[in-house]
Amino acid sequence: MNTTKKSIMTTKQPKNKPMRKCVGCNEMKEKESLLRIALNASGGAIFDTNHTVQSRGAYLCKKKECYKKVLKNKGLERSFKRKLSDDFYNELEQVFLSYED
Ligand SMILES: [Zn+2]
Repeated sequence: MNTTKKSIMTTKQPKNKPMRKCVGCNEMKEKESLLRIALNASGGAIFDTNHTVQSRGAYLCKKKECYKKVLKNKGLERSFKRKLSDDFYNELEQVFLSYED
């Protein structure tokens, strides 16, 4: 198949992807590539997997390294200005076990 026609569909993509700061390593990364953690109505932290929760959010790289960093630097607590439950941290650990170093 000869496909010499260039697709005009691709020209509509925005050049500037939204960037967010990882609370672990403090580096700016593409928002889409990060894990979002948000607060629910009762103030507990939840995993906002689809980036749809309309509340204060914090972002983390999907890397074990950043999980370890955020445990040390308490970046999530700082972002949310509150202490997070042990249950949440257990869940966070489970999530990060599946990610790379
Ligand atoms: Zn990071």
